[in-house]
Amino acid sequence: MSNKKEEFVIFGNPVEHSKSPQMHNAGFENLKYNGIYKKHLLEDGNTIKDVFLQNNYKGANITVPHKEFAYKNADEVRGLANEIKAVNTYINKNGKTIAYNTDAPGFLHAIESFGNVKSVLLLGAGGTAKAISLALQQSNIEVTVLNRSEGKLEFFKKHNLKASTWEEFEIKEYDLIVNSTSAGLKDELLPCPEQILNEVLKNAKFAFDCVYGRMTPFLNLAKEKGLEIKDGEDMLLYQGVLAFELFTGVKADNKVLEAMRKGLKGE
Ligand code: NDP
Repeated sequence: MSNKKEEFVIFGNPVEHSKSPQMHNAGFENLKYNGIYKKHLLEDGNTIKDVFLQNNYKGANITVPHKEFAYKNADEVRGLANEIKAVNTYINKNGKTIAYNTDAPGFLHAIESFGNVKSVLLLGAGGTAKAISLALQQSNIEVTVLNRSEGKLEFFKKHNLKASTWEEFEIKEYDLIVNSTSAGLKDELLPCPEQILNEVLKNAKFAFDCVYGRMTPFLNLAKEKGLEIKDGEDMLLYQGVLAFELFTGVKADNKVLEAMRKGLKGE
């Protein structure tokens, strides 16, 4: 019997910064699963399916800027990914690519610790906002999208979600405010004008930032105002755990989850 390890990768450009290999390899090790997870720098997103199959990868995750290419090229798309039109996971099933989006359920899992959330103001309208907004809608949580510019709002309106720019925004009360913009990722910017944030944070209970590993100006402001806050680490972890279950066919128990969390944190 061949003892060759099954190969898994993360496709991205850039991909060097990705923590997915350390997270998944920790999971494989904990489970004694005969797999290895590596980084694959991919320049042309249109080649993603061919590269995946030619390398005989068993599974893959897909990050910026290839999630939409991966969706378009997949042989079969399952679940909410059909609506989001972007995928972050590929499975190789008998030489066919089966695609999923685990960012959306990963986000829902990450906000469970807040308890009861009925309404959300979602800042940003990029790829992550698409996944989050449809996941929330499917869970019957009311969601309003607020973005700097008009261009990306069409998707949300088509899905019967409230969506507006900063200028048109009518302030209401929300339980949870989510930053899904890239403001605060590598700068000290707030995701929308401070005056809007001051108003919505006054009435909210929780704040979540998709950015992980640092206290963003958004989370600092929310904390100052006494909200319960959370960064994007759990979202990253849970999207990874859900992909890991698809890769291995094994339900991740707490032992695997904690191993993957430690792997993610480099502990
Ligand atoms: P996109 O590039 O698709 O979208 C970026 C969004 O942010 C756009 O709506 C854009 O507005 C807005 N934006 C960018 N800069 C600013 C700014 N200075 N002020 C206000 N709005 C701004 O990005 P993604 O959706 O792929 O990613 C968004 C964030 O989520 C990133 O920080 C990423 O690291 C994080 N992320 C975290 C994950 C996790 O697991 N924790 C998973 C995926 C992403 P406009 O339309 O006007 O340009």
